[in-house]
Amino acid sequence: MVSVVSIVKVQSEDVERAVRKSVSLSHSLESVEWEGSMVLIKPNVAIPAQAASGTVTDARVIEAVTRLVSERNPRSVVIGEGSSVGYDFPDRLDSMHCMEVAGVLEVAKRCGVKVIDLNRDEHVQVKVPDAFVMDTFAIAKTAWEADVVLSLPVIKTHVRTGITCGLKNMKGVLPGEEKKRTHRCGLDRGIVDLNRAKRPTITIVDGIIGSQGTNSEEADRVPLNLILAGNDAVAVDSVCATVSGFDAREILHVQLAAEAKLGIADLDLIEVRGERIEAVRRPFIPYLQAAQHLYGGTSIIEKNTCTGCMGELVSTFIYLKRAGFHDKLPDLTVIMGTPEDIPSLNQTPVVVGRCAREYRHLGVFVPGCPPHGIKITDGACEALNIDQKIVHRSIVELHSL
Ligand code: SF4
Repeated sequence: MVSVVSIVKVQSEDVERAVRKSVSLSHSLESVEWEGSMVLIKPNVAIPAQAASGTVTDARVIEAVTRLVSERNPRSVVIGEGSSVGYDFPDRLDSMHCMEVAGVLEVAKRCGVKVIDLNRDEHVQVKVPDAFVMDTFAIAKTAWEADVVLSLPVIKTHVRTGITCGLKNMKGVLPGEEKKRTHRCGLDRGIVDLNRAKRPTITIVDGIIGSQGTNSEEADRVPLNLILAGNDAVAVDSVCATVSGFDAREILHVQLAAEAKLGIADLDLIEVRGERIEAVRRPFIPYLQAAQHLYGGTSIIEKNTCTGCMGELVSTFIYLKRAGFHDKLPDLTVIMGTPEDIPSLNQTPVVVGRCAREYRHLGVFVPGCPPHGIKITDGACEALNIDQKIVHRSIVELHSL
């Protein structure tokens, strides 16, 4: 069996043309029963960021796909996203706010389709047979009942999973607690179990601008100017990993998904149509490699820390650096995850997250699973005797919230 993935260059900024060409080359639409179907378009808009930032799906891709799908006579078309933990508060910082910032609400208005916050949707309990680590999931009802799910990810590096693309984009159909549970249960296997429960019908990748390193600075944007598409999300992710310079055999969740027979990860069994991988390959800087310089000499005592706390901690380094306190980092000690032994310490450590709570008595404890990066930053300020107000001002400036 062979899976097909198309790679198409966006010419003259004509994103809609590239999307149409990509799905046409991969024959993605043809195997789908459109008439009378309920369609969910699931972009990656997990945080409040603008289009072309490389961190959320470009609104032009969402619009092109919405128009393409609407032409096929489905019963309904909905654009839905459940933003990340930390952006799911019942006020401004929720999925709707993220979609407003990314231009999705405007797209929906122009195309006459509904937008739904999947975090606030009704949720249904779904059983997963033969699960690796999660044999049940609470899934947004709109996603669960959709006959057709179009996943529109962006190619990005990730602290724990190497890359994040189509398979991981499905996490947006989970409410916050379930998102966190995938971290606690083991993110790579949790992603595969989720895709066993609900698999995207078609994956169309916004490869116009990807994001490398810690996905936090202008310099992390990687212009690829590509649209990729296919029905097999494992094959699409395998191709995207290779295009962004990774060895797809080392991306655990992609390999596990192939093992679980969700698709094909072996490049020899994937037919690539359109551009050749070698012609468009542009190596991304891996997350952890980029994050090293941010640690600035911080001592980290950890074991089995998942991406939740790891990722949030990186925010702390970014915030402190931006506020002018990078030189204080060599005095910072962080305990997180489940380390077995703690050596004797000269400084007050910051104990991060629920997993590390048995060491809370040793220093400044920041509860949560994961704690928000701003809370960890507050803990670091306390441990380092830094004025929190200065750092907060800088955070507000950074996010312009
Ligand atoms: S406390 Fe941190 S390391 Fe532990 S499961 Fe939660 S996010 Fe992961």
